[in-house]
Amino acid sequence: MTSAVMPTYARAPVAFVKGEGCRLTARDGRTFLDFAAGIAVCALGHAHPRLVAALHEQAQRLWHCSNLFEVEHQESVAAALARLTFGELVFFANSGAEANECAIKIARRHHAAAGHPGRYRVLAFKGSFHGRTLATLAAAGNPKNLDGFGPVVDGFDHAPYGDLAAATAAVGPHTAAILVEPIQGEGGIKVPDPAFLKGLRALADKTGALLMFDEVQCGMGRSGALFAHQRVGVAPDVMTVAKGLAGGFPVAACVATRKAAAAMTAGSHASTFGGNPLAMRVAIEVLAIVAEPAFLARVAQAGQVLAAGLDALVARHPHLYAERRGVGLMQGLRCTLDPGTMADRLRDAGLLIAPAQDHVIRLVPPLIVSDAEIEEALLILDAVARSALKAA
Ligand SMILES: *Cc1c(COP(=O)(O)O)cnc(C)c1O
Repeated sequence: MTSAVMPTYARAPVAFVKGEGCRLTARDGRTFLDFAAGIAVCALGHAHPRLVAALHEQAQRLWHCSNLFEVEHQESVAAALARLTFGELVFFANSGAEANECAIKIARRHHAAAGHPGRYRVLAFKGSFHGRTLATLAAAGNPKNLDGFGPVVDGFDHAPYGDLAAATAAVGPHTAAILVEPIQGEGGIKVPDPAFLKGLRALADKTGALLMFDEVQCGMGRSGALFAHQRVGVAPDVMTVAKGLAGGFPVAACVATRKAAAAMTAGSHASTFGGNPLAMRVAIEVLAIVAEPAFLARVAQAGQVLAAGLDALVARHPHLYAERRGVGLMQGLRCTLDPGTMADRLRDAGLLIAPAQDHVIRLVPPLIVSDAEIEEALLILDAVARSALKAA
């Protein structure tokens, strides 16, 4: 049967019909241990009772309300994000790309309002991912994703990730902002030296550029801190959040200081669905759970268990697992086979992972993963490495 869905994805031949915690059940009855979590989205696993109840309760009252009116729960989510971070003002969107669009617009308007409309360029980094809109594609600058889509949106410069000297050289009088993932996700789970982020903060302070962190993937508890930059003790002027924010209900946020966003006045930006009551109600619940210090401490502990197990696999099976990278429950394994093949083999053995660039497979389980489930995933990774050795 031919499909009417536009074939923009290379989909694996499996359809899930039910999820519970860290497990998914497919239409044919097979069950899988989910260490992909919708690509770091299902922070509290599948069908978390508190999220189900919150969504259900809100669905019975009000689904949608235009931003022409006050939208219930937006104030609560914005206040929570402000209380838990450097931020003071929040714009709600529906996807990571849209939150980054908002960040880019904030940067341009910030300088335009100060009388410097020519100061519009954003310095971003190679190997990053910021979304699939035309501006966020230009920000990441990945030629593969830009191919065939016409003129690249102007206003983006690039430096190698982790290279502070190159970043310093690339910042000029036209630089409005520096946009960076505190940990690169799609790029292959790259954790920079803390000195890199600290240096970018100093560079922004010196030049008047805004420092903008894309925490769409590494935020919402994944690193063991609520936001990855908090581990390093470097606060940005603007931060984008999405994936885990409502545990799988689509929502995103662009969090800024009052100063950075001072020019974002009424009419300057908008979204029909952004901050929808359903999304807000679920986000309140996710934030209440994930921001608890005991919850984050458990994420860090689970991350250590996973990292130690992965290190042991690298030591035991260097023919397949070349290197482990990551912090908390954002772990990557660089493999000698391509990530797509690895995804197929692991899935056949009952484990879901998310491929990334640089020959890396991502292990980004729900943050509620148990030690027993981590052990089970490690056993599957071990078994796949042993059968790869036999086949070779
Ligand atoms: C996934 C991702 C995005 C894009 O999010 P969408 O919701 O797909 O638009 C942006 N930045 C980072 C770091 C991401 O991981």
